[in-house]
Amino acid sequence: METAQVDIQIEGGSVLTPTGWLPNGYLQIRDGKISALETNPPLFESHAPARQVISAAGMAILPGLTNAHSHLSQTFMRGLSAGRPLRRWLKELIWPLQAAMTREELHLAALLGLVENLRSGVTRVVDHQKITQTLEDSLAVASAAQEVGLRLALARAWSDRGGTAEPAEPSQAILAELETLFDRFQGDDQIQIMSGPLTPWRVTPDTLRKAHALARRFGSGTHLHISETQDEVLESQADTGLRPIAWLDSQGMLDPDVQLVHCVWLDGDEIRLVGERGAHVVHCPVSNAVLGSGIAPVHALRQAGVPVLLGSDGPASNDCQDLFETMKAALSLAHLRELDPSQLTPQDVLHMGTAGKTLAVGQPADVILVDLRSVYAAPVHDVDSALVLCCRGSAVDTVIAAGRLLMQAKRLPGMDEAALIDECQRAASRLWQKAFGKG
Ligand SMILES: [Zn+2]
Repeated sequence: METAQVDIQIEGGSVLTPTGWLPNGYLQIRDGKISALETNPPLFESHAPARQVISAAGMAILPGLTNAHSHLSQTFMRGLSAGRPLRRWLKELIWPLQAAMTREELHLAALLGLVENLRSGVTRVVDHQKITQTLEDSLAVASAAQEVGLRLALARAWSDRGGTAEPAEPSQAILAELETLFDRFQGDDQIQIMSGPLTPWRVTPDTLRKAHALARRFGSGTHLHISETQDEVLESQADTGLRPIAWLDSQGMLDPDVQLVHCVWLDGDEIRLVGERGAHVVHCPVSNAVLGSGIAPVHALRQAGVPVLLGSDGPASNDCQDLFETMKAALSLAHLRELDPSQLTPQDVLHMGTAGKTLAVGQPADVILVDLRSVYAAPVHDVDSALVLCCRGSAVDTVIAAGRLLMQAKRLPGMDEAALIDECQRAASRLWQKAFGKG
């Protein structure tokens, strides 16, 4: 074995480091980690030769983006959201399609959705996995991530209360399957399991607490939708006397291992409470805008010290998973909400999109190269602005996840994308016919 050889060497380009952008960088990757990072050319010719040398002149080199909330199964349900508010959209379209989906269709939808994430520079996806009739359904999604090579946090969705088209599951079955999944992927570098209660109005407090305790026992946490619409807040107040965040806190469920997805309708007390307890918020600005749900108070949350991540949400309500589009929407909608363009900068938004990561020696090699030499981004005065305001996912040139080169020069080696797209188109048409009949 050629132990002295590094796997990948990247020369030129601006590198996002803990101290800011390093122009004309030099970066080496070995055994899944960044093994060298300095100015190009390196001062000392002591670096080992590399199997693969990539020129990154004119590119930005940064950590792979984190899509902190999606529903990969919904890749088969694009383009159906327009004109319906959240509850009607769920009842009339999404729940019937999810109920009719087979494991094979779920696997195909996850593959397509993951390739879409890969192409737009995402190296880690949090999938709120809703098709949960069997353990094998969750494993089908995990295997899709293993095939594509991206990191996946699979938040196994569950509901043990209410629901109309989506039946409630028995609490014991939920906890047993979660434990099996946690056990199976314990210590796995690529796949992480989380508890994924759908939303406070679809779960019992007892199962919510037990599933969270189970997740924490395995070093993980809970990922749930909350306060997405104004109706949800009013119903929570009618049912419990409390707003959703205050109710979650009353159950001891607002700690740093909890990810709160949406948080559009929070009042000042709730924002302070989330900041004090240390929970994370996942902001999905495009989905919230498409469904007419509202604009989350991102600036106030950040002021309260809340870590804010970005998610596309499912492709049924976005209707794509381009994190660059999400970054620009996060910035522009925050400015619109506050009527103040100074309150969220491109640098702030990039920090959210990369989940606060930067590139440094010893870090896992989740690295993307974004080509700024295009009519959309040139000339570049400020790299953060070029990335957030000018680029779309299509500007991503190269993607490395856990040290593996998954995309180079916009090509995916070993993957027949055209065949995958054709197969998904046929399968999605069959799914529609199963759910709603021909016509
Ligand atoms: Zn969602």
